[in-house]
Amino acid sequence: DIDYGIDAWGHDLVTVLPDGNVGLRDPLAPGSPPVALPMIVEDLRARGIGTPIQLRVQSFLDYGLNRLCDAFDATMAEVGYKGAYRGVFPIKVNQQHEVVSRIVEVGRARGYGLEAGSKPELIVALAQPLAEESLIICNGTKDDEFIRLAILSRKLGFRTVIVLESLNEFEIVRRVAEELDTKPLLGVRVKLTQSVGGKWEASSGDRSIFGLGTYELVQLIDRLEDSGLMDCLVLQHSHLGSQVPNVIDVRRTATEACRFFTELRRLGAPLTYMDLGGGLGIDYTGEKRPTENSVNYSVEEYCFAVVETVAHAMDDAGEAHPTIVTESGRFVVALSSMLIFDVLDATLYDVPDKPVARDGDHHLLTDMMAIESYLDGNRVQECFNDAVYYRDELRALFRRGVLDLRQMGRAERTFLYTLSRISEVERAQEGASELRDQLENYVDYYHCNFSMFQSLPDVWAIDQIHPVIPLQRLNEAPTRRAVLTDITCDSDGKIKRFVLGDGMHKALPVHDLRDGEDYLIGVFFVGAYQETLGDLHNLFGDANVVTIALDGEGGFTVEHEVEGDSIAEVLSYVEYDPQDCLAAFRKRVDQAVAKRDVTSQERRTLISAYKDSLSGYTYFE
Ligand code: PLP
Repeated sequence: DIDYGIDAWGHDLVTVLPDGNVGLRDPLAPGSPPVALPMIVEDLRARGIGTPIQLRVQSFLDYGLNRLCDAFDATMAEVGYKGAYRGVFPIKVNQQHEVVSRIVEVGRARGYGLEAGSKPELIVALAQPLAEESLIICNGTKDDEFIRLAILSRKLGFRTVIVLESLNEFEIVRRVAEELDTKPLLGVRVKLTQSVGGKWEASSGDRSIFGLGTYELVQLIDRLEDSGLMDCLVLQHSHLGSQVPNVIDVRRTATEACRFFTELRRLGAPLTYMDLGGGLGIDYTGEKRPTENSVNYSVEEYCFAVVETVAHAMDDAGEAHPTIVTESGRFVVALSSMLIFDVLDATLYDVPDKPVARDGDHHLLTDMMAIESYLDGNRVQECFNDAVYYRDELRALFRRGVLDLRQMGRAERTFLYTLSRISEVERAQEGASELRDQLENYVDYYHCNFSMFQSLPDVWAIDQIHPVIPLQRLNEAPTRRAVLTDITCDSDGKIKRFVLGDGMHKALPVHDLRDGEDYLIGVFFVGAYQETLGDLHNLFGDANVVTIALDGEGGFTVEHEVEGDSIAEVLSYVEYDPQDCLAAFRKRVDQAVAKRDVTSQERRTLISAYKDSLSGYTYFE
């Protein structure tokens, strides 16, 4: 039996039902019956929402946010911390209206705010009904307009903090504040010298792009004093990069941040907020180790590391405990959505039928056929080496004209058959091996209805691992191993790293496809960054996005749906006018009619086929 590792990576949100379907558990209604994912897809299809679907679960989102706030509150109570926690959601992690407004709604009671890294994100933040004590933290490079809006928003009661990224930015703030005759709330981004591990290592350390080094910080303090704006500097910001794998790094860097904080206070800055940025990671693989896709801590341990470090540092320095701010976007939203698609077709490398020897077969082919006779658990590597050797020799003979195409076809088929038998014997062995890794280079391709570039950009760009599993038949032993290819014509468009119960693999265990039966695959925990980083490669547009609420009784309700892009929409993004395209096509058809190549009946069929495609989904329908 295959262990897909769901218990390790599933965060108690994903489970397998007795009928082999994958189910979703409601974290806010423990003990309620799980909801079968294939049933959800079937129901959505009946409503006209086809695959690929980006499925968001409302309670997963609420759970992420509440869990973070609860963990900070509980830790602060335990440590005797004399300050509060005020988290902010970085809009860039998931800008979708639906997501941001839900976070604001659920976060109101907890004083949860927003982080804006650009003017458009500030515009979004200022349109939200934030609680009075919630912060809007403005990071990133800012121009006059950005700063003007941020300062003006103070008049409306928004607690908008402009985080200074450079001395030049301060000069803009000084000028605009004077013009508006309004004092801003200011923060400063300090560049910590300590760096952290993980994929985003370059975001930390003294070569990181953003923020002020020690020398510039002192200059800033002098300029604040000169301009009478020192009383505005209320927040210190530092950010280590996303997905910090090791909790020790959190402690180390928080300690350094505290040194800056107490020093800045000593220089007269009335700092009240210590903003430690993002970094709180998600265990995507269930490894629970400090790897690129996993972390060696829980959210509770992260909070403890932060709160305890700050409390001790402030107590040692005789300073009051500040309000702790974090910008943890990934943790809040990553678990909340999944991508679901169907398998369209397969290219099978696993050959079950034994090739039959024929008179006149080249002796190298006969030798390859004989490998099966000495294949056993002790000789799998030898058999693999032999098969590859004979195959390569036979290919050389084909290139030199010794073998013809039919003979070479049989040779390649025999090679795949032999490899399939070797794989069977190897898989029956205990533990992973070097050979298993090599054999996984020869697995099947399952062609799937999604675009990697549109829906899983980080899998393509930075080798992000998301858990991927078939959504049905998990009570049946999978008979095949496959790499999942997408619908683009780009050979980069494939998922080729999978986490299973016994570690990382280059192939996913899957079942034989059955005629007329859907085979669905789910890619989990794609709520952070994936939705808008994606692009229009091959003009595949946004997938259908649906938000559901689990009803606690094994059912669900659709809360929100956004239809994916139609072909006409995607064309207009790249400056084609769909009506012009249709007119040009119609003209071409009419010319063919005039030449009597096309009948009037065919004219109608041609034009309606073009029109239907224009208004249709960009994916396989
Ligand atoms: N804050 C800033 C300034 C960032 O640049 C980022 C992203 O890297 C975040 C917060 C979000 O961090 P996370 O991915 O941990 O949510």
